[in-house]
Amino acid sequence: MRVDQTIRTRLLMSVSQRVIANAEELTALDRAIGDGDHGINMRRGFEAVLTDVETLSAKSLGDALKGVGTTLVMKVGGASGPLYGTLFMALGKSLADEISCELLADAFGQAIEAVKARGKSDTGHKTMLDVLAPVHAAIGTGGDELAARLRRTAHAAAQSTIPMRAVRGRASFLGERSIGHMDPGARSCALIIEAIADVMEGTA
Ligand code: ADP
Ligand code: MG
Repeated sequence: MRVDQTIRTRLLMSVSQRVIANAEELTALDRAIGDGDHGINMRRGFEAVLTDVETLSAKSLGDALKGVGTTLVMKVGGASGPLYGTLFMALGKSLADEISCELLADAFGQAIEAVKARGKSDTGHKTMLDVLAPVHAAIGTGGDELAARLRRTAHAAAQSTIPMRAVRGRASFLGERSIGHMDPGARSCALIIEAIADVMEGTA
């Protein structure tokens, strides 16, 4: 499948609008186990992506993703800015306009490794990685109704961070008290995957 300029525009708009529309929820989650800025950080980053959407989507998929990564590093800040920046830049490095489930799964796997290296973190630490890893597995499985499966997987994975104890990030300072709350970065990751699934299904 070819990701042409129209699809690139839809992807960038859908993801940015979804994050911006749910910024309040992300901030509320971060208020419970962090410093209450995740929604503000992510909204600032994706508003900058929206402002640049024409320039970004005119580039190849790889360069557009690298551009999003650079923008997020510059604008989001906090712990999540460099980590989301790393994720998008790594995806941009390995993806060309022609994609398949295999190519996507490979690129996603490499991007997850880059995030783990940057964050010195792993799955089970109650972070965005706890959504990225199961989504990666779902992409690898491929098959029919992939978009619906990605949405379900991402949503359930974000929920699965509720009983976890944070090992990385600001929430880890709370120790046991981080248990019982959804990780804000896991939720923002799920929102991004849901927005991509909407484009795959032609509803965004
Ligand atoms: P900050 O914690 O600096 O205020 P944000 O609130 O924007 O930054 O982002 C917090 C989110 O970043 C967390 O919910 C978590 O998902 C993610 N995060 C933080 N540290 C790490 C890490 N070392 N590895 C992976 N993800 C992390
Ligand atoms: Mg925060």
